[in-house]
Amino acid sequence: MGNNGFFDNYGGKYVAEVLRRPLDELERAFTEAMADKDFLAELDLIRRDYIGRETPLYFAPTATKLLGGAQIYIKLEGLANTGAHKINNAIGQCLLAKRMGKTRIIAETGAGQHGLATAAACAKLGLDCTVYMGEVDVRRQQPNVAAMELYGAKVKPVVSGSRTLKDAVNEAMRDWAANPDSTHYVLGSALGPAPFPDIVREFQSVIGREVKRQCEERGVNIGAMVACVGGGSNSIGFFEPFINQKEPRLIGAEAGGIGPGIGENASRMTGTAARDGILQGYKSRFLLDEDGQALPTRSISAGLDYCGIGPQLAALGRSGRIEFTSVLDKDALEAVQFFARNEGILFALESAHAGAAAMKIAREIPKDQAVIINMSGRGDKDVFITSPVFRPKEWLDFLHAEIGRLESRKDIHEAEAMAVGQGPEAAALRQDSGRS
Ligand SMILES: *Cc1c(COP(=O)(O)O)cnc(C)c1O
Repeated sequence: MGNNGFFDNYGGKYVAEVLRRPLDELERAFTEAMADKDFLAELDLIRRDYIGRETPLYFAPTATKLLGGAQIYIKLEGLANTGAHKINNAIGQCLLAKRMGKTRIIAETGAGQHGLATAAACAKLGLDCTVYMGEVDVRRQQPNVAAMELYGAKVKPVVSGSRTLKDAVNEAMRDWAANPDSTHYVLGSALGPAPFPDIVREFQSVIGREVKRQCEERGVNIGAMVACVGGGSNSIGFFEPFINQKEPRLIGAEAGGIGPGIGENASRMTGTAARDGILQGYKSRFLLDEDGQALPTRSISAGLDYCGIGPQLAALGRSGRIEFTSVLDKDALEAVQFFARNEGILFALESAHAGAAAMKIAREIPKDQAVIINMSGRGDKDVFITSPVFRPKEWLDFLHAEIGRLESRKDIHEAEAMAVGQGPEAAALRQDSGRS
């Protein structure tokens, strides 16, 4: 655990007085739960049967041969139910909330991946779910909004500020402060005020523990581990069992966007505009302007596009235990193609930043050692981003044709929607089942 919520100089709990009590209560409940055998047994069972753990550690023979250095292994975290590592944290926190007697869950989401994982976890555990999402993001991320609603969550568009992720965070904090007795706030990455960085790391460290065991069983000698870093949850969970030793090399890949200029990337550890600051309840490295205001960020991967980084990662970057590198959009796209064609594995754009960083260092590591890449998510969700790049004309034709098809069939669709469960009778049925 962090020392009193701090990791060296970073971390802490810089929040309004009204949030102190729910944060203290959460910290106590978390400590108790982690010492409760029944809680841990239930969590293990859900991990096995619902999330689909353990996830495979895959040896990538063709990539190994083509890159001509270390043995390449990929932790297939994207095979977890819902398609990414975020479900590990969502399930852990929702189960903790139930143990605390909470009936209502709130969450913030930017691209929608954390909202989606939380909505699924709430559906599985029978909790009421509200997801705050900037109005701009709601419009941009309709596929994830649709999925959240399928899971039964209410998606609330936030219209304050820039109408994006940081405004959604503020709105979620406000809701939590107003409803601390009934409600738990599921924060989506290893950041925010203490104790969230500890809680999220703990629930994600299942990734690293599995990797350690899988490598021991198979006699794999790890030379380096590589993960992408947005807020930092998949990376800190993947690295966790190895942090307090000198080896292996731990490498974090940040979004390099389109270049080093201000507003062109989300490089909080390697970027020119990176500085120490306090934002949204914690102290860490942020991309800030002279007045301490958050700067705009840019990345082809929505999940890495955030101006801050988890405090523990910031501390481990400063101490030198974790090396940081930044990966350009175009190199991430190339990594997506490389692993798809050569290994039959489709990386999420976020995870492809780790893939690209591994491709760069493979030759620095001896051939009898392994580089392990954490594939935090799978790339199916990115088809709306990758297709316009890889096959722009065909994709545009497809979208035009889809619009035409939908418009010509509009009345039929409305009639169908009435018939299959969005009409008044279906609503009445949902009321009867008590879970409307
Ligand atoms: C959200 C997301 C990330 C970035 O978040 P972290 O908290 O840094 O892990 C990375 N990969 C995928 C697939 C994501 O959905």
